[in-house]
Amino acid sequence: MILLTDRIAELTSHRDRELLDTTLAAAIKDLIQPLTVSIHRCVGEEDDRRWLNRARICIADPVATGDRLWSDVATLPKVAPGEARYIAFTEQCVVSVPGQSHLTVFPLLGDCEVDGVVEIETVDALDDLAQRTIAGVLRIYGNFERLLDYSERDTLTGLLNRKTFDESFMRATADLVPVLDPGDDRRARGADGGYWIGVIDIDHFKRVNDSFGHLIGDEVLLLLARLMARSFRLHDRLYRFGGEEFLVLMRCHGAENAALAFDRFRSNIEQFQFPQVGCVTVSVGFTAVRPGDTPTGAFERADQAVYHAKKSGRNQVCSHADLVQSGQLVDATKVGDVELF
Ligand code: GH3
Ligand code: MG
Ligand code: MG
Repeated sequence: MILLTDRIAELTSHRDRELLDTTLAAAIKDLIQPLTVSIHRCVGEEDDRRWLNRARICIADPVATGDRLWSDVATLPKVAPGEARYIAFTEQCVVSVPGQSHLTVFPLLGDCEVDGVVEIETVDALDDLAQRTIAGVLRIYGNFERLLDYSERDTLTGLLNRKTFDESFMRATADLVPVLDPGDDRRARGADGGYWIGVIDIDHFKRVNDSFGHLIGDEVLLLLARLMARSFRLHDRLYRFGGEEFLVLMRCHGAENAALAFDRFRSNIEQFQFPQVGCVTVSVGFTAVRPGDTPTGAFERADQAVYHAKKSGRNQVCSHADLVQSGQLVDATKVGDVELF
């Protein structure tokens, strides 16, 4: 009983989602001492769903590990109808698979719908008490996740809200290595490439509201958020900053790749036919996240670049570094040769 309450207390003490699934796997291991515990989340497009292994732990492991969020979706195993995971996931039931070792698969409830499974491998089938204990822990876990969603997500689009940006930003910058010239975006880098932030602002959105009404305007915001999720990668963090302004915290190698990713998104929006409204375009400004950066400083640079994109005719992507280099913008975070951070 004490072990159970200890584990639940630990589970609900995290606000970092990247740690939640590994903590859950470790808690289940401690509670029932199975051979292995693994947690799989369903990711990808509706017609190409894949399993991302968010946590796995064996009886002898001190801590759980998992696939990194920046795994390439195309390399992950496909969700296959008929498999135990698929049945637990789609029918929201516990699936038991006897064999040399016994596999029990529990559905994991995400926000509104099932979005993953917990697989537990044991020598013998889980008894009723163990099954009910796990089911109870998963219910508490699901409730906790929904509370986190409620405080961290925008209710219209489901994207992260502005409040959560600072925290993610500080975590992102923590693993950036110092560079000789922090003003040079090409050199900002971390162990897996650099981070970039892009501010996205819908062009002439007032006209959409004025011509079609606020409800249709809201639908455009919702569809744009879905197109963002499709255009960027699994590990990129997507925010609605308020109104018709969105932000992406993206991880990739080099300014050229960042520019390509933002322009691919811009082009996806331009080509999409929004019901009733037709064509909508966006302007994007982006900047590299530099070692020692503040969330406000980085946001302001990207925002200056969006402003420039608007002035230059809209429906385009502008790089803050390029604008500074070509003398069209002054870098507000630098005075002469003295860095302000
Ligand atoms: P620009 O190309 O210069 O960005 O033009 P714009 O019309 O998009 O200009 P601006 O950013 O000033 O206007 C944003 C408008 O977005 C104002 C407001 O009517 C609308 N808006 C803000 N929040 C919401 C929302 O939650 N729903 C809807 N439907 N409209 C919103
Ligand atoms: Mg705006
Ligand atoms: Mg706008």
